[in-house]
Amino acid sequence: MTPPLPPLIQTKKKLSDLSTFGIGGPAEYFAEVSSEQEMADVLVFAKKNQLRHMVLGKGSNCLFDDQGYSGLIILNKITFLEGLDSGQVKAGSGYSFSLLGSQTARKGLSGLEFASGIPGSVGGAVVMNAGANGKETCEALKSVDFMNMEGMITTFQRDKLSYGYRSSPFQKMKGAVTAAEFTLIKSLKARQKQIEIIDYRKKTQPLKEKSAGCVFRNPDNGHSGALIEQCGLKGKKIGGAMVSEQHANFIVNTGGATASDALKLIRLIQEQVRLQTGRQLKMEVRYIPYE
Ligand SMILES: Cc1cc2nc3c(=O)[nH]c(=O)nc-3n(C[C@H](O)[C@H](O)[C@H](O)COP(=O)(O)OP(=O)(O)OC[C@H]3O[C@@H](n4cnc5c(N)ncnc54)[C@H](O)[C@@H]3O)c2cc1C
Repeated sequence: MTPPLPPLIQTKKKLSDLSTFGIGGPAEYFAEVSSEQEMADVLVFAKKNQLRHMVLGKGSNCLFDDQGYSGLIILNKITFLEGLDSGQVKAGSGYSFSLLGSQTARKGLSGLEFASGIPGSVGGAVVMNAGANGKETCEALKSVDFMNMEGMITTFQRDKLSYGYRSSPFQKMKGAVTAAEFTLIKSLKARQKQIEIIDYRKKTQPLKEKSAGCVFRNPDNGHSGALIEQCGLKGKKIGGAMVSEQHANFIVNTGGATASDALKLIRLIQEQVRLQTGRQLKMEVRYIPYE
């Protein structure tokens, strides 16, 4: 039986509107939270009612199912920012990671230039250990505030966290990242570097199209995009999902793509790359099944 719903929790929210891919059916339950208190209320409710749930940032690394999500999607909008005039910057986990990259660089602070152009939230970047241009989120990270399912926040220092390529301990923890603090260093070159990074991104990535960024993790000593291109798959299309002509590791939604189209294309790419090059491509984008 459905529990009585607190005012924060709505029903039936289109996930295609909450993902940069523009794909996904409705979430059974949905809550948008803009403070730690609201996050705590919703997590405690989910735990008490044993409700399957997922914290969502900007939905830029997610492929939702066509049927939607059976459970509660918690859209994180905790967006404060402190310390921009010092080398210690603390951001709410819903803050734009890209904006943080450009704002810090404009202030002559170096360490997050690579974030400029990554369309995720600070929380999503901390959880995914987002990276670009040879840099990763964990490098500038000082500490992370993490809220458990009882609504209690623990501050984890970076040196106690084991990070890897696109992986973090938070991927296996129940709860939510609520804030992250970064240690940045003064540099006269920060702004110039950030401008070069964003210019390069604009030239090499299909930023005007709907996508979830790079679909596959890079294998050891290789680039997924180069392998996919080598297999002649640029422009390959299934339904509305297409391998980008600009960057072969991107699948773009050319209009009306379904999760089923994207998944079929993903399987086809994996099979062709395995047959033609012997390499196994693993997904970086997170497919979220209906149940
Ligand atoms: C055009 C484009 C370019 C991109 N370029 C890059 C790139 O250069 N490098 C790169 O690494 N990625 C890139 N990405 C992928 C994506 O932007 C990153 O993975 C980003 O860090 C995801 O952040 P998000 O807020 O959108 O996370 P979501 O997609 O909302 O969530 C991703 C995962 O993190 C979890 N999560 C999110 N927020 C929280 C939180 N507060 N607490 C707990 N769990 C949370 C979710 O449950 C989910 O499992 C790109 C994507 C696009 C569309």
